[in-house]
Amino acid sequence: VAGVTSPFPASAVRSIRRAVLAFYDARRRPLPWRASPDPYRVWISEIMLQQTRVETVVPYYERWLARFPDLDALADAEPDAVLAAWAGLGYYSRARNLHRAARLVRERHGGRLPETAAALQALPGMGEYTAGAIASIAFGRAEPAIDGNVRRVLARVLDIEAPAPAALRATAAALVPARRPGDFNQALMELGATVCTPRRPACHRCPLARWCAARANGTQHERPAPRRAAPVPTFAVGTALVRTREGRVLVARRPEHGLLAGLWEFPGAELRPGETARAAARRVARRLTRRARLGRAIPLASVEHAFSHRRETYHVHRFDIDAPAGDAPPATPVRWLEPAALRTLAMPAAQRRIAAAFLDGGTDPSRRARA
Ligand code: SF4
Repeated sequence: VAGVTSPFPASAVRSIRRAVLAFYDARRRPLPWRASPDPYRVWISEIMLQQTRVETVVPYYERWLARFPDLDALADAEPDAVLAAWAGLGYYSRARNLHRAARLVRERHGGRLPETAAALQALPGMGEYTAGAIASIAFGRAEPAIDGNVRRVLARVLDIEAPAPAALRATAAALVPARRPGDFNQALMELGATVCTPRRPACHRCPLARWCAARANGTQHERPAPRRAAPVPTFAVGTALVRTREGRVLVARRPEHGLLAGLWEFPGAELRPGETARAAARRVARRLTRRARLGRAIPLASVEHAFSHRRETYHVHRFDIDAPAGDAPPATPVRWLEPAALRTLAMPAAQRRIAAAFLDGGTDPSRRARA
């Protein structure tokens, strides 16, 4: 990028670009979004890849494109359909923002994603990294794109313990070439994902080895210093799987705001002090079924889910009732569904695991699942 100060001499910058692009040409993984630089596809893949591993994203990406092949299809979709297609990927605000952004792009930009990183950043859910990635990969703009992998690579090349975002940005901006900027950015990400990995940097096969200060100083394992993570609290939840005699099951919709907003779940309640999971599950089942006579609580499964800031364990109990009393409190939208409908409902990953345990006929209370 013109006008950016580089920590490397110009000749080194040229050599670094050549080495990194040659690495990409020889070693890039054949990922489905790399087959075409279509802006919509690049956008979807970049949003899905935030905080999510490539192997997890691939099947979701392919299903998403079959369902919403272009921006118009996404903008036209109902919010529930968008959430259902995302269900299981986590961080659901990403799906809601994608949907809002698709509608905004149609209203304000004639259905075409804007080309500059600055204009892209004005869209919901579009941070500096994602905007840089789309601008460079889809539109060939020489914009840097610094994700966690690139941060680690650059911190090591520069041998900086706690790299300031501005320093990383300046370095990445100085390195990204006007020709093939998208490939260059993806090459740095690929390098971080496959060679300069957090625990085992393979310096002997790294195209940046010649210029890497951490390698020269033997500090690559300490760079960058790990960010200190805050301890994550754990919460126990009593979850009720209420089933009618005909086999329909009760699901409730989460509020429109907050964690997992708008998704469907088996209703649950956090344990009160001294309360058992069974009692909490019964409490919530009673609240939502009112006059129905709940049978005894049958332990079905325990499912764990780790969010970024909290961990929850759902202790699921099944209750069999004669028929729904049909007057759940209006504040909680509920549905009584045939079990088969659970497979396509917009549910978070942990709830899908509970549904799977139920559909499999699982009754093992020690069942554990991490999502
Ligand atoms: S030489 Fe080693 S530490 Fe430096 S960028 Fe390459 S893999 Fe990472």
